[in-house]
Amino acid sequence: MGGLDDLYQELILDHYRNRRNAGQLDDPTVAVDHNNPLCGDEIHLELRIEGGRLAGVAHSGEGCSISQSSASMMSVALSDRTEDEALDLVEHFRRVMRGDEDADEERLGDAVALEGVAKYPVRVKCALLSWMAAKDAILTRRSEGG
Ligand code: ZN
Repeated sequence: MGGLDDLYQELILDHYRNRRNAGQLDDPTVAVDHNNPLCGDEIHLELRIEGGRLAGVAHSGEGCSISQSSASMMSVALSDRTEDEALDLVEHFRRVMRGDEDADEERLGDAVALEGVAKYPVRVKCALLSWMAAKDAILTRRSEGG
């Protein structure tokens, strides 16, 4: 007991302290802002989409360790994926957070560490914030017909 939880806890802290893909892109295709008023989490997400792929993912914002580490994990998990793959993965993560599916570590990467958050409904919105922002960004770009 505890071994896996400790490892996951360590991964979450690592992404919180050393956020991957933090900052902004030089030439984003689309940018969105989302926030989670229940906790005060904010994210500004930028995507650069080239040939239907997420060639660049950058995030900035502030909030609790779950929201910020999740944004970092999301940026790694979605980078280089096609738009459809990214949308599928966001949906998978959403279902994991709702306890409807087991986490697919191969697809989620370090974000598998957030699976335990599903046990804490108050924190689920924190974990989902950046992923929902990514979905919104992709759908926004599509509706703009780019
Ligand atoms: Zn939060």
